[in-house]
Amino acid sequence: MALEYKGTILNPIDRNTVEIIHNGFLEVDDSGRIANVGQDNDDNDLSQVIIPAFVDTHIHLPQFDVRGTFSGNELLPWLKTYIWPEEAKYSNTDHVTDVSKRFYDDLIRHGTLTAFIYGTVYEEATREMIDLMPIRGRVGKMIMDTNSPKALEEKTDEALKSVRKLCIDYDDRHIVTPRFAPSCTMDVMKGAAKIADDFDCYIQTHLSENEDEIAWVKKLFPNNKSYTDVYFQAGLLGPKTVVGHCVHCSDDELKILKQTGTKIAHCPTSNVALGSGTMPLDRIIEFDIPFALATDVGAGPKTSMLDVMRCFLDVHDSVNATPTSALYYATLAGAEILGYGNETGNFKKGKSADFLILDMQADKNKDADFIIRKLTHGSDYDTIVKKTFLKGVEQLIS
Ligand SMILES: [Zn+2]
Repeated sequence: MALEYKGTILNPIDRNTVEIIHNGFLEVDDSGRIANVGQDNDDNDLSQVIIPAFVDTHIHLPQFDVRGTFSGNELLPWLKTYIWPEEAKYSNTDHVTDVSKRFYDDLIRHGTLTAFIYGTVYEEATREMIDLMPIRGRVGKMIMDTNSPKALEEKTDEALKSVRKLCIDYDDRHIVTPRFAPSCTMDVMKGAAKIADDFDCYIQTHLSENEDEIAWVKKLFPNNKSYTDVYFQAGLLGPKTVVGHCVHCSDDELKILKQTGTKIAHCPTSNVALGSGTMPLDRIIEFDIPFALATDVGAGPKTSMLDVMRCFLDVHDSVNATPTSALYYATLAGAEILGYGNETGNFKKGKSADFLILDMQADKNKDADFIIRKLTHGSDYDTIVKKTFLKGVEQLIS
């Protein structure tokens, strides 16, 4: 029997359009798909708003317990002093199990039901993170074969062997994940690109986040034209690659991203926390490079995509940063760049019923921008999500 949910419905269409349906209903069929969406004749519940579930395009599971803790440091000292020692704890499987459960619970509680997730270098830990994943997405075993602490650094061939095994065993739940150019030799990056190609697998990594990082890449790869060129020469860029940040990319680098079809995960809360700068939103839109929002926990302090949308609106002084575009970049745009555009991200008939019921009064005289801004700037992110549905099934929020 089909189920019906009522409230004010916000349905993202593109970056300029969110369809708003006051007195709306959402019908979900027996297989957990959107059967219909429309408007009721009668007045119905004004005390709830229904939106698609969020998509987080870049988040680090092993940094969950220290999220936000070391804000104020810049990227490289932050990594070396705090993050890498934290990630070394994940050689202990009990620890992985404990944090993974709390991490996924927290994502569901905040309405994120699709994500691309960074794991650690440990293959066993990554397996556990994938096995426990209750949402849609992929987890990547981090690749680090140089310039890394002893506890995390792997031998090149062993790292690649692990990645290949994970691709075989987990197919579309695993993602090839070289950490970033400073932690990887050219050999391991080329090897990782080859594996991704063999299995037609997605790739994720970091690009051009911080100026000291860029200077380090220049020193490590003196023969490459730019940071982006390092990945390009390694064969890592393409339509199934998502690179995090791109705060300082030159026009030549953006051209490479566009030409290769590479996608960007935009992480404004993380960029603020580590003082990395502001992603050049207007240029990236001008170059027509697909991007979507991400928390980048643990540099980003919160798992809530509403907090990322708030920050997106606060940091960009641009006509392209509107509440409507913020909701699109936190839902449908994310689904599209991660390859789930036909499956989730909005309320198109036939898509999976992945949606959130929000505890919020929506005035009938207000437009979508007003309601979205009230969500981002005037709500409690920890309590606003009343119910969460994945594939039409309510997820328990502990
Ligand atoms: Zn990151």
